Amino acid sequence: MATPITLDEVAALREAVTGVVYARGDEGLAAEVACYNTAIVHDPDVVVGARTVGDVVTAVQFAGAHAIPVFVQATGHGAFAPITDGLLITTSRMDSVAVDPARRIASISAGTRWGAVVEAAARYGLAPITGSSDTVGAVGYTLGGGLGPLSRTYGFTADWVRAFTVVTADARIVRATASEHEDLFWALRGGKGGLGVVVEMDLELVPLRTFYGGGLFFDTAHVEDAMRAWVDWVHTVPDTVTSSVALVRFPPIDEVPEALRGKFVLHLRYAFVGDETEGERLLAPIRGAAPAFLDLVGEMPMSAIGSIHNDDDSPGPAWDRGMQLKDIDQDFVTEFLARAGPRSDVPFIAIEIRHIGGAAGQEQHGGTAVGGRSAPFTLVMIGVPVPELFAVAMPQKSDYIVAGILPWIASETNINFLGHIASTQQFASAWPSHAYDRLAETRSTWDPGRMFAYGP
Ligand SMILES: Cc1cc2nc3c(=O)[nH]c(=O)nc-3n(C[C@H](O)[C@H](O)[C@H](O)COP(=O)(O)OP(=O)(O)OC[C@H]3O[C@@H](n4cnc5c(N)ncnc54)[C@H](O)[C@@H]3O)c2cc1C
Repeated sequence: MATPITLDEVAALREAVTGVVYARGDEGLAAEVACYNTAIVHDPDVVVGARTVGDVVTAVQFAGAHAIPVFVQATGHGAFAPITDGLLITTSRMDSVAVDPARRIASISAGTRWGAVVEAAARYGLAPITGSSDTVGAVGYTLGGGLGPLSRTYGFTADWVRAFTVVTADARIVRATASEHEDLFWALRGGKGGLGVVVEMDLELVPLRTFYGGGLFFDTAHVEDAMRAWVDWVHTVPDTVTSSVALVRFPPIDEVPEALRGKFVLHLRYAFVGDETEGERLLAPIRGAAPAFLDLVGEMPMSAIGSIHNDDDSPGPAWDRGMQLKDIDQDFVTEFLARAGPRSDVPFIAIEIRHIGGAAGQEQHGGTAVGGRSAPFTLVMIGVPVPELFAVAMPQKSDYIVAGILPWIASETNINFLGHIASTQQFASAWPSHAYDRLAETRSTWDPGRMFAYGP
């Protein structure tokens, strides 16, 4: 049973760590625990802003002595429910990345964002298999699998992890690899939470300086033609092509570039690993299907990988719901656009469909806990940033879209794409059932007291 935390104990914890410590009510706690989704406000008993691995060990020991749950946060991009008790370890100060070019390995600390890893690797002509956004935390993202703009060519980011260094529930520092603590290594590659605090991750890099890619924007009148062309085209492209589309309702506000302000568009994202001529040739059917009013596709340095999706990285209230699709075809487009297209009245600022499959569909030697390999498309609905609508409009309107596309929805999905978690059943759908059961077993081996609270 949890024991109360006294002010003297908080003071002693503050002395014992090199980072910062705040208890509930302290000035500074709110800023320390703030999430990317500002509609979620954490209020733990105590937060340790760790600077070192030793700080993480001390924090876990403290939580163990008080029998309170431990949560971890790097950037707050993945927060799905408010934390109302226990100890939160924030890792944003642990933000180093060291590249060993000979071994092609980046050693990435717990709080490092993708942008820093991309930049460090690029100095050696190397690249990590990143996500769509430079500001997402590399470790938190990879623990969920990680599907990025190059995923059809290189698979899930978790497939490229060679080692995790973890602080476990009994406050030991453990290294998990394909040959040491294999069960923990398997679980951390896609199992996400409830296993320990990852303090460092060794990620294999690929030799890649440039790609051919970017975004095409189709105005309202051409949304349907472009989407229909994309749906046929994705079934023809090689694994060196990764693409996605997003129906985007750009608000009529000054912060949006003039060319996009107030428009309903189809944003088609494209990435080809190979030379410019071949990249252009493969994209030609899409360019020929409808006129894009903005064509930002070209040869790019790896440092521009974040520009493919051009995610809005500013914190704000957010609601999203995700799933995966077994396949898509012209009938899907008809149903989807009838419910979510330009003439629909749904409160979603963006609805994105990513084409995965390719290397992401191939399981790794030794296996991983990654969910969603079997379904070649993801679909995520992102609500307008109006918290008053989150409980009353978003679930109903997303159900309305889901009802139309039900035949195409896969039973399995991936935890990074789940969005708002409404039920235990929905949470469980983020892994194949055999992986979900094995994860539960691995969590009880490594955390028998369920210190690392995880899930709804
Ligand atoms: C704008 C945006 C773009 C995104 N793009 C992609 C994408 O392209 N592909 C994709 O796969 N996902 C994507 N995501 C989802 C993202 O990968 C997840 O939300 C991920 O959890 C974010 O990790 P974080 O560390 O930044 O977030 P945080 O909220 O800080 O962490 C999320 C969770 O990760 C776990 N965690 C984080 N650090 C540690 C650690 N050191 N040890 C143990 N557990 C830890 C914890 O369970 C924590 O609750 C995106 C999200 C956003 C908001």
